[in-house]
Amino acid sequence: MDFSLTGPEQDLVGLCRQFAQKEIASRAPAAWEEGRCPTDLLREMGQLGLLGMLIPEQWGGIGMSTVGFVAAMEQIGLADQSVAAAWQAHVTIGSLPLYLFGHDAQRERWLRPLAEGRALGAFGLTEPDAGSDARGIRTRAERRDGGWLINGRKTFISNAGTDMSFGVTLLARTDGGEGQKARFASLVVEKGTAGFSMGPKMRGIGWRGLDTRELYFDDVWVPDDHLVGDADLGLSQFLGALEVGRISIAALSLSLTQAVLDMATAYARQRSQFGQPISKFQAVQFKLADIATELEAARWLTYRAAHLRDMGQPFLKEASMAKLKASRLAVWAASEAVQIHGGLGYMLETPVARFYCDAKVLEIGEGTNEIQHLVIARTLGC
Ligand SMILES: Cc1cc2nc3c(=O)[nH]c(=O)nc-3n(C[C@H](O)[C@H](O)[C@H](O)COP(=O)(O)OP(=O)(O)OC[C@H]3O[C@@H](n4cnc5c(N)ncnc54)[C@H](O)[C@@H]3O)c2cc1C
Repeated sequence: MDFSLTGPEQDLVGLCRQFAQKEIASRAPAAWEEGRCPTDLLREMGQLGLLGMLIPEQWGGIGMSTVGFVAAMEQIGLADQSVAAAWQAHVTIGSLPLYLFGHDAQRERWLRPLAEGRALGAFGLTEPDAGSDARGIRTRAERRDGGWLINGRKTFISNAGTDMSFGVTLLARTDGGEGQKARFASLVVEKGTAGFSMGPKMRGIGWRGLDTRELYFDDVWVPDDHLVGDADLGLSQFLGALEVGRISIAALSLSLTQAVLDMATAYARQRSQFGQPISKFQAVQFKLADIATELEAARWLTYRAAHLRDMGQPFLKEASMAKLKASRLAVWAASEAVQIHGGLGYMLETPVARFYCDAKVLEIGEGTNEIQHLVIARTLGC
């Protein structure tokens, strides 16, 4: 198997490396400290075409391969995880449902501004009483006056509350309630729609630059042309978008692991104790060698899942395996990297501490690692 990058993929990586090192690395840490989503950076990424990564040119995107997206993520996430998190949520779950299941008028109206980088996309699945159990959502959409009346509440929704956000593509129940077969639909609710409101930006232990909020829908009415895809197949549409999201979280995890490996290696080479650099101690060398080895293994799983998607082949199991392996690695590697920095690693004045805080959510978002275990076990026939 050969995952060598094509010419356009290499050009993209070069562009992302330059932007990440020059702009993101210098400006994003302040946004993280202030708990502010740096939409100025996201707009600039939009101008470079990066917000329409997986969307064809016909709809304003750059039609990049999934492998190219993963390679680009390795550069963006190296500089800052919050920007990378907002970017990947927009590129995958924020935009793909509209592209994959929307009709042309919807793509023109909502997808094109997202792909051209003029707006930020959000995906509303999780609710206070339904996270892993997506079928348990309570937000309801009822047929009313030639459209849909939506009532309910979503939580932990990323990218819906910034000055660049267009609104949200949400999942709602459409069945008549208890005793009836569960049915779900995807609907677009634009910012400014009567009855649609949101809470303040939530305060995570990491990804502090990512805008994540509760969303409230009180008698929100949208016309019928806001229904995305089949009125009964909304859940499978959403779960399909999440499969790509898992490759994306795996890629984000690779970038975090590479970042902390680089930081820990550089620090170990320059920090001396007992008269020599700590990189000369085997206990430190083994940690670095282990991280580097595991990173290579996680990289192969992630690129393979991306490659399968590009080939039009099933990638459910591979995406879950990549997400499981890479996110676990990121959490462990970040902890080891802090350990190598000693007390300095614990201080937010040191970048490795920021990446440590950013790591944990990788095991939770886009399906917890326990859910990835279930998906993988199911493919084994369990
Ligand atoms: C920063 C951030 C951003 C997010 N952005 C979005 C977004 O943009 N859109 C969106 O819709 N959601 C978003 N989420 C929500 C995220 O997808 C959920 O948090 C995640 O799916 C888990 O759901 P939960 O938090 O309700 O946990 P729960 O489902 O309540 O799980 C709690 C614990 O129980 C375990 N568990 C649950 N069921 C099982 C089972 N069957 N077997 C074994 N263990 C189980 C879980 O693994 C977990 O450890 C975001 C979350 C975070 C933290």
